[in-house]
Amino acid sequence: MAVQTNSKKPRIVIVGGGFAGLELAKKLRREPVEVLMLDRHNYHTFQPLLYQVATGALEAETIAFPLRRIFQGQKNFSFGLTNVDKINADKNTLDTSIGEISYDYLVLATGAETNFFGNAQLEHFCMGMKSVPEAMNLRSMILQSFECALSEKDPGEKEELMTFVVVGGGPTGTELAGALAEFKNHILKKDYPTLDNCEMRVFVVESKPIVLGVMSDHAAAKAKEYLEKMGVVLYNGVRVKSFDGELLEINDGTKIRTRNVLWAAGVVGQFPEGIKEENVVKGHRIQTDEFNRVKGYNNIFAIGDVAAVITADKPEGYPGVAQVAIQQGRHLAKNLSAIIKGKQTEPFKYDDKGSMATIGRNKAVADIGKVHLHGFIAWLLWCFVHVFSLVGFQNRISVFITWLGRYFSYNGPARIIVRPFSRASMTEDTKAR
Ligand SMILES: Cc1cc2nc3c(=O)[nH]c(=O)nc-3n(C[C@H](O)[C@H](O)[C@H](O)COP(=O)(O)OP(=O)(O)OC[C@H]3O[C@@H](n4cnc5c(N)ncnc54)[C@H](O)[C@@H]3O)c2cc1C
Repeated sequence: MAVQTNSKKPRIVIVGGGFAGLELAKKLRREPVEVLMLDRHNYHTFQPLLYQVATGALEAETIAFPLRRIFQGQKNFSFGLTNVDKINADKNTLDTSIGEISYDYLVLATGAETNFFGNAQLEHFCMGMKSVPEAMNLRSMILQSFECALSEKDPGEKEELMTFVVVGGGPTGTELAGALAEFKNHILKKDYPTLDNCEMRVFVVESKPIVLGVMSDHAAAKAKEYLEKMGVVLYNGVRVKSFDGELLEINDGTKIRTRNVLWAAGVVGQFPEGIKEENVVKGHRIQTDEFNRVKGYNNIFAIGDVAAVITADKPEGYPGVAQVAIQQGRHLAKNLSAIIKGKQTEPFKYDDKGSMATIGRNKAVADIGKVHLHGFIAWLLWCFVHVFSLVGFQNRISVFITWLGRYFSYNGPARIIVRPFSRASMTEDTKAR
């Protein structure tokens, strides 16, 4: 098999080339180890900008980067494109779609998947946004709704096609709703001059009393103000009960006729089978100690969204954000090096650098320690941080130029329907991960 080598060095297998796995593999480049990364995609995805792909503001290629290319020249690194199905901890092997793979140390950096709270109907009819294929499907769905609305004679059907409901008013839902409102206010009349932009409606349904509740009160209040100014209708303190593809029902009795439900109501950890039940905690995450070691295993570690480092002062673990994943990847590289060299390991401590969200053009919020920013300054900071966090110089330049062009032209580049989207035959394929 392609990923087997004759190396005598300890083999560290990293499952997942997201923020955590990527950072870990990079930091191990000078260590006397063999690093094997396995991922079901051959690229790293910059998830914070998926919503811009979904709304046609960025090309998918600008936020994804081939993993093999990132590690060109790293001699102790190899990659396997595969889905990891099972961990056989008793014999230190993995069952994968390309065969059995052995490890000396295993690191699970498998991230999270969309949480539909076990509701099969919602999972079937609502669109998640956790991967590039999902963002492309979402883009196709949005654009095809307008294409269909153009020829729709029945006003009720047309209203359904032009109504967009974002479920979840956390950072992802807020940014997505803002981007849809921007589309309504700036793009719709250019691309579809015969559609009245007042007919496009954007709703957010959020179970908490406020949107962006994970950020400061200042940020939440500003986000609400910005969204409402942009024409987004907010339903707070309520939950979606059902959606059958045409009618969405909320638990306060509200019914919204729509064809487009975008699900951003949370995530749960995802990982291959084989981890003991008692190690799986709230949010389907794997409980680890402060050294990121999965309890009860000597040589299995978990980092990033899939891991819950539960301590007395952090009973819920750290939040599922990129900064935690990156810092855990970096830290585990040091600890694995120490373990291999027989040295002391150090507990992980998260250094929270703050959080930010953008709602639209010149409209963002940022919490940096006790400093709360909003408006143009926060938006500029958001753009700067995101451009510099992207993987690959070419991608940074490409996104920067695209955003600059969009800022002056009020237009986006990526409104190509590449995956004809059929609601009637909404299958696992059309919702591919
Ligand atoms: C739409 C969206 C917006 C976000 N915005 C922000 C933001 O603004 N700021 C922020 O800090 N965070 C944001 N996040 C969260 C952030 O992206 C995550 O915290 C981060 O990606 C977690 O990194 P990770 O390495 O743990 O997992 P991921 O980045 O999810 O990577 C996991 C990898 O594992 C692979 N994988 C999973 N299971 C298997 C398997 N069985 N076999 C093979 N491969 C597998 C996947 O293909 C994937 O490449 C956002 C997330 C989303 C979805």
